[in-house]
Formats: sequence, structure tokens, C-alpha cells
Amino acid sequence: MRAIAVTPAIKQVSIIDQPEPGISSPTDVKLRMIEAGICGTDKEICAFEYGTPPVGSEHLVIGHESLGEVIEVGAAVTRVRVGDLVVPMVRRPCPHRHCMACLSGRQDFCFTGDFTERGIKQQHGFMAQYIVDDEIYMVPVPQELRDVAVLVEPLTIAEKALIQVWDVQQRLPWRCPTEPGKAQAHCRRAAVLGAGPVGLLGAMALVNSGFDTYVYARESVPNPKAEVLTMIGAKYVSAETASVDDFAHQVGNVDLVYEATGASRLAFDMIQRLGTNGIFVFTGVPGRKGPVEVDTDLMMRNLVLKNQVVFGTVNAGRNAFERSILDIGIFTKRWPRAVKSLITGRFPMEAHRELLVGGASGIKNVIQLN
Ligand code: BGC
Repeated sequence: MRAIAVTPAIKQVSIIDQPEPGISSPTDVKLRMIEAGICGTDKEICAFEYGTPPVGSEHLVIGHESLGEVIEVGAAVTRVRVGDLVVPMVRRPCPHRHCMACLSGRQDFCFTGDFTERGIKQQHGFMAQYIVDDEIYMVPVPQELRDVAVLVEPLTIAEKALIQVWDVQQRLPWRCPTEPGKAQAHCRRAAVLGAGPVGLLGAMALVNSGFDTYVYARESVPNPKAEVLTMIGAKYVSAETASVDDFAHQVGNVDLVYEATGASRLAFDMIQRLGTNGIFVFTGVPGRKGPVEVDTDLMMRNLVLKNQVVFGTVNAGRNAFERSILDIGIFTKRWPRAVKSLITGRFPMEAHRELLVGGASGIKNVIQLN
């Protein structure tokens, strides 16, 4: 079968021929892969800044945002059936008996760092014609979401973040007041940094959870990302015309910041504008560009005197995948055009070079695998 792989030792990104994987345990499921999305992590792996092949392998098959169709199941499989559409989860547990997170199926919170990730860290990924994995990593998707389900994995980042935000904010009265007979008022304001797929999907999740949502990003208007945001009722603010301060003023009391750029300078500029009882979520992984000066006294005063919380989040557990699937369904009903326009192109495997190492533009580009 064909797969897209990197070989770090010779800095090569190519289509390779691999033996087709087969079912080897009663709980295994075999998928014919339909498509895989390309994200910043894939591009970093293809620039040899990130990513590790499996032990004993020279190459790593990439791809972790995907959709497949079940074509064969082991004798003991109960969660999925042949013909089902599924999105496979990305992270696999570490082997240590003392890692409570991995032992509980929450390897997205692995304590040891010895987890593996398909398509990223020591396990081949999903940009292949077929894959096999245990049924516990398969999340079924309704057939009607076939066209958009490749967005499920990138949305899990926001879903996991929001699950934690609601948990943490239980510390205070955070629900909006309701008046009898009136629709619930929007009382919380969210600022999203970045309008890539993680930022845009995060903005959809925030609007859908009742936040007045403002997105701050580089490109000047008009642009396709700003259009998507207008369609969902969020506001796009361009860094071309507004400083971080201007942006924060437009938002008002910044109840939540969802950082989705991986740009630490911007993030720490914005932390200083986080509002009273505010919560700041980091999702980006910056390259190492050297230290940036920040006003630590101001930040520390604000954290204490304004009851603020700052946290980072990576990867996602089954609960976030399930919510993501539900929400993609809701988003497609609420904003069909906006969701469709996130997927800017579907390409054959042969286009991988331009998409992964070239200057391909667009929001979410997808590679068709079969
Ligand atoms: C993936 C996560 C993964 C992270 C770090 C992201 O692109 O969506 O599943 O945990 O990269 O490797």
C-alpha cells in the first residue's frame, strides 16, 4: 500500500510502499483511510523540526487528522462494525504501571512523557491507504458527517480546552444571568489569538457555547478567514490595523483567551490584558526563538488581584473526540457554508510535496488516500 512518510536521516518526504497492515488481535480494527488533514505539526515534521520514527524504523508515516472506513474487525470487536466511519484517536499510552493517566485511558494527560502519538512520535500515522489499531482508539462518526469529519481531530483541541475551562470556572459564579422569557444573554467575552484551523474551530466552539467571540490575527481584511468568522457571528480584528491594546479594548473584560498561534510574544502581550476572573488557554507550541521581555510584576499582580488562571492543553481524550463529533454536527447545521469553507482543497497523494513543504495556501488542506 502507499503512504506518505518522512525519513529524517536523509531529510526526505516521499510516498513509500509499505506492507498492508493486518488484524493481529481480536480487538483490532482495520480501516481503509478516506482522507487526512494537514496541520502545522505535519509541516514541522516535514521540516525535520519535530517527529520521531518508530523504534527500529528509518521512516515515520505521518498524518494524525483523519477519517477512515471500517473494512474488517477482529472477533472480539464490539464498538464498531464494517462500513462504519471512524476517526482514530492520536495518542497511545506509556508503558509505566505508575502512570495513573495512561492507566485510566487518559494518555492525553500522560505523566511520564513516554506516550507515543500516531504520525508524530514513534508510531506510524494515518496518511496511508490502510491502518490497523485497537477498537478502543476508534471513535465512530455518523455517515452524514463524511464531508467534514476530517475536522474532528483539530476541533478536539478546543473541545478539551473548553471542558477544562468549564471545570476550572466552577470556582466562581460563571453562568450568565437569565431573565424569564428572554433568550440567555451573552455575558462572557472570548478573545482568540490566531485564525488558522485551530483558531477558527476554537472560535466556532466558543460562539456555540455562548461567548461573544473576537479573533485577532495577522492578515488584513478582507480575507477568507475573516469571512468565515463573519458567517458565524464572531468579529475579526486584524493586527494590521489594531494593536493588542486596541484589540483588548474592543473585547472589553477579557473573560477567556484561547491562544492558537504558537507566538509567545503575542501571547504574553495578551496575558497582560486578561480580565477579572479571566482564564487564559495556551494551545500553540512555539519554536525556540529566544527570550522576550515581559512585565512580570504586572502579570503577577493581575493573576492574584484579578483571580486569573493560565493553563496549557495538548492532545485530547475520548470525551473531547465525542464532543467534537457532536459539535461538528451542530456547526454544520448552524453554519453550513462556514464549515465547508474551512476545507479549502482536497488533493491526491502526489500533491503531498507542495502541501507539506511547499507554499500551499488555504485554511485546511486535505489529502485523499483512497
Ligand atoms: C496534535 C496532537 C498532538 C500534538 C503534539 C498536535 O498537532 O493534534 O494530537 O498531541 O500535536 O504532538
